[in-house]
Amino acid sequence: MTSERLIPTSNGQFNIGHICTRLQSDRGLAGKTAMRWIGAHDERAEYTYGDLERESSRFANVMQGLGFAPGDVFFVFLPKMPEVYSCFLGALKARLITGTLFSNFGEEALLDRLGDAEAKGILTRKSYLKKLLRIREKLPNLKFIILVDAAEHQAADILSLPLLMQQASTEFETPLTPAETPSVLHYTSGSTGKPKGALHRHRSVLLQNRTAVEVLDLRPDDIFWCTADHGWVTGTSYGIIGPWSLGVTQVHFGGAYDAAKWFGILEEYGITVWYTAPTALRMLMREEPALFARFNLSKLRHICSVGEPLNPEVISWGRKVLGKDIYDTWFQTETGAIMITNRPGLPIKPGSMGQPLPGIEAAIVRDNGEVLPDNEQGNLCLRPGWDSMLISYFHHEDIYRQKFKHGWYMTGDTARRDSEGYYWFMGRSDDVINTAGHLVSPFEVESALLEVEGIAESGVIGVPDELLWEKVVAFIALKKGCEWNSDLELKLRLHVSNRVSTMATPQEFKVLEHIPKNKSGKIMRRVLKARYLGQDEGDISTLDI
Ligand code: AMP
Repeated sequence: MTSERLIPTSNGQFNIGHICTRLQSDRGLAGKTAMRWIGAHDERAEYTYGDLERESSRFANVMQGLGFAPGDVFFVFLPKMPEVYSCFLGALKARLITGTLFSNFGEEALLDRLGDAEAKGILTRKSYLKKLLRIREKLPNLKFIILVDAAEHQAADILSLPLLMQQASTEFETPLTPAETPSVLHYTSGSTGKPKGALHRHRSVLLQNRTAVEVLDLRPDDIFWCTADHGWVTGTSYGIIGPWSLGVTQVHFGGAYDAAKWFGILEEYGITVWYTAPTALRMLMREEPALFARFNLSKLRHICSVGEPLNPEVISWGRKVLGKDIYDTWFQTETGAIMITNRPGLPIKPGSMGQPLPGIEAAIVRDNGEVLPDNEQGNLCLRPGWDSMLISYFHHEDIYRQKFKHGWYMTGDTARRDSEGYYWFMGRSDDVINTAGHLVSPFEVESALLEVEGIAESGVIGVPDELLWEKVVAFIALKKGCEWNSDLELKLRLHVSNRVSTMATPQEFKVLEHIPKNKSGKIMRRVLKARYLGQDEGDISTLDI
């Protein structure tokens, strides 16, 4: 396997698009299956590395032909579908800064991201066009909307992908792309302000490749299934880049969660390595045991999980039902690749995220920069410098710099390390909500709620949930004369779903006279949380109300 590991290349070609397609073809894998595609309605297709090379080259030519230049920003706004992969890699070949967006994003979420990034182009489909057209005039930099499912161009700037691809050459010589060239852009939510775009560089492929071998344990003949959406860093780092930089075959499924369907895929496609998330595993745990008995998963060799804490009960379930350990892995949008992890050869301590990857220095640090001794809880920090580290928050260099203190990168998580060097996740040091592995900004939801008539104030928190890890709970104060009822509740839900995303939609509402704020008007989410959980509200002497 070591022969397939990427090492800093002597010819200096770091281009991710090139490495995942052309390099694999040049290694003799042009005829090997790169992707087995299963659509939501069970449509099936196979794509070889040769296909990926040709289609991504076509797309690189399309973008160049439209006048896109290296460093221009381009987004993919689609659900899982085959075009996502070739166009993502093609855009990287053309050295565009390539962002991916969750397909359930609402108008406000889209506007924030496309506007902040000054996006020049977006790839989407006809059914999402209305949403985009409603915000279009606020996006002066957006020159082209390209539709995957339009047979004809709709306007001079709303184009048909099939038509553009038909006219483009399948030959594209990817220019030499130095390691530091910007590559992928992922927006991530913070607890204050708008979402920030974590900008990565082509050099990240070195670590995505290495962790795909050392953590995911990928070998040349593996059939790999990463269930993550490409809107999330796991979906690009490990649903695209890591495995294809190794020449491994991946399965991608465009449908939603369905236990029997998922187990059917694991069996029928002979998945050997599976990368999924705790919420999905907890949903599977709720199914009847008889269901699992119907499937033969003897090919499944290695299972990994990411995105939220993996409870020990899930590991016990995996051992009992799947006959396998489930390896928890920790990373975040900003780190670009797995940092702290369980991996083959390291005994699993259920409930722990494992140990830092060799070469990654982690520590538990006090706010003043002092490194804490074992077993004390504090800020989870990493020593900067790893290959897949973000290079900036796009257009927000100041906020990027604030992430580094006392020589450490501050992850925003709190954790502790035990005396054997295992890390245990404790929580977030900010108010960001992790619901089913998706980070939700309370600020974004609060802002959306305030747009609804009758809402005077809002405060949003995450509270523990058995299935989702955390669920979104909204506190609201009503304007005089406004009454709380089920119609208003439905309106609020729909509004958040349309403006932000379905993931951000509150599961529960609580009506208060006033939302607790401090003297400077900051919403005291800590107090809301304590109130919800029936805990001591702590020092509230500085509160305004
Ligand atoms: P994102 O940037 O959206 O990928 O979210 C990253 C955040 O998800 C981390 O900072 C953690 O708070 C959480 N997270 C990711 N993986 C794990 C894990 N294995 N255990 C606990 N929390 C995790």
